[in-house]
Amino acid sequence: MKVAFFGVGHMGGPMAANLIKAGHQVTVFDLVPELLNGAVKEGAQAASSAAQAVQGAEVVVSMLPSAGAVRGLYLGDDGVLQQIDESALIIDCSTIDADTARDVASIAKEQGRVMIDAPVSGGVGGAKAGTLTFICGGPQAAVDRARPVLECMGAQVFRAGDNGAGQLAKICNNMLLAIHMIGTAEALQMGVDHGLDPAVLSDIMKASSGDNWSLDKYNPWPGVMENVPSSKNYEGGFAVKLMNKDLGLALQAGLSSQSATPMGNLAKSLYAAHGNHGYSDKDFSSIQAFFQHKND
Ligand code: NAD
Repeated sequence: MKVAFFGVGHMGGPMAANLIKAGHQVTVFDLVPELLNGAVKEGAQAASSAAQAVQGAEVVVSMLPSAGAVRGLYLGDDGVLQQIDESALIIDCSTIDADTARDVASIAKEQGRVMIDAPVSGGVGGAKAGTLTFICGGPQAAVDRARPVLECMGAQVFRAGDNGAGQLAKICNNMLLAIHMIGTAEALQMGVDHGLDPAVLSDIMKASSGDNWSLDKYNPWPGVMENVPSSKNYEGGFAVKLMNKDLGLALQAGLSSQSATPMGNLAKSLYAAHGNHGYSDKDFSSIQAFFQHKND
C-alpha cells in the first residue's frame, strides 16, 4: 500500500519503519527536516510538503504531539484533508482530546473521507518492537480496513466505539495507570520506611491482592527489576510531561461528562508538582522520588 506518514518523532519514526519492513511504500513528512533523514535510511521517501506526501496515498497515518497539530495538518491554512484521495483511509494515532478527534473526523466525513482515531499504548519500546496496542474509534468497516495496516505496527487492535471513543478509552487507561503507579510507589516507600526489602515486598504484593501492572511490569523502586526505567535513572520510557498531558485530557473528559475523578485529580496534581521539580523529562515511574525522605 502507499502510505503517507506524518510525524516521525519518538513514536512515529519506529512505527513508519515497521510499515516499511512489512512491505508498504511509505512517504514521510515532519516539520523537523532532520527527522526525515532517519526515516529515509529505513527506506521511506521524504516529501517536501504535507501536500506532496498525500499524493497517491491509499492510507494516511498521523502521529502528532497535540490536538492543535492534528487540526492544523488536516484543516489548517495549508490543511491536507481536501488533497487526500476520497478512497484513502485516514488514521490519526496521536493522543488528543476526543472532541477534536470527533470534530476532525466529522469534517472529513462531510468532505467524503473516512477517518478513525487510533491512539496507542505501549510507548517507544512497543513502537520499536511492533507490539503497540491500537485503541480505535470510528465506523466498524473503517477499523476493519485499518486493521492489516495497524497490525504491521502493533500486536492488538481494539475498537472502543465510534469516532473519539479510541481517545476516551486511551485516557481512561492512562488515568488508571497514573493512579496505580502512584499507589505502588507510596506502598513501597512505606514498607521500606519500616525496614522491609522493596524486592521482597514487591514479590509479596504481586502474589497478593495489591498486584498491578506498575508493580509487576514496571516496578518504580530502583534495582527491583532489570531493564525498566527505575533501574536506569528513570531514563527512557514514558515521560512525566506526557503523563501530565494525558491526565489533563482525562480531567477535561471528566469535566465534560460530570464524572467524579477524585483520584485522577490527585494524580494530575502530584504529577504536575513532580514535573515542576525537575522530573518533566524523566520516566513517570520517577514519582517514587516524590515519596523519598530527602532530609532524614
Ligand atoms: P514527538 O514530539 O517525538 O513526535 C511528534 C512529531 O510530530 C515531531 O517530530 C513533530 O515535528 C511532528 N509534527 C508536529 N506537527 C506536524 C505536522 N503538522 N506535520 C508533520 N509533522 C508534525 O512525540 P512522540 O513521543 O512521538 O508522541 C507522538 C504522539 O504519541 C503524542 O500524541 C503522544 O501523546 C503519543 N504517545 C506517545 C508515547 C510515548 O511514550 N512517547 C506513548 C503513547 C502515545
